[in-house]
Amino acid sequence: DQDPRIHGIQTKIRVVPDFPREGIMFQDITTHCIEARGFIFGPPIALAIGAKFVPLRKPKKLPGEVIKEEYVLEYGSDCLEMHVGAVHSGERALVVDDLIATGGTLRAAMNLLERVGAEVVECACVIELPDLKGRERLNGKPLYVLVESH
Ligand code: AMP
Repeated sequence: DQDPRIHGIQTKIRVVPDFPREGIMFQDITTHCIEARGFIFGPPIALAIGAKFVPLRKPKKLPGEVIKEEYVLEYGSDCLEMHVGAVHSGERALVVDDLIATGGTLRAAMNLLERVGAEVVECACVIELPDLKGRERLNGKPLYVLVESH
């Protein structure tokens, strides 16, 4: 009695072995939709719940003054940036991404939001790779996922 929409989502994930490097089973959610991943899901959720959408981006994409948070990815290390003034102290935030692997990205996003005094209420992803235990890096914050991939 699983929600049939979950099956629909599962069948649209294409697993690309050894991308972007050997050993990574890349969960490609763009098979049946556009390029860009996390940003596909954030804006419609924001619209549905009446929240604003704030993009957290890879370095040098945001034009204004930013705060940065470095983190370790399943494949390499990276950095997330957020515009100064985009989120205010006391605001409540939901962090949305396409996939949680090691949890480093969501953790970096949470750190950015908490540094400006926002309250991270929950994280939400389409796919969880539970074997990587990324959930354990979220400081006990609730994580909502639609499908697990092993
Ligand atoms: P992590 O920080 O390790 O939780 O990795 C999550 C971020 O990296 C997400 O933004 C994903 O888009 C991307 N990512 C990591 N591993 C994969 C994978 N196996 N398939 C697709 N995307 C991945």
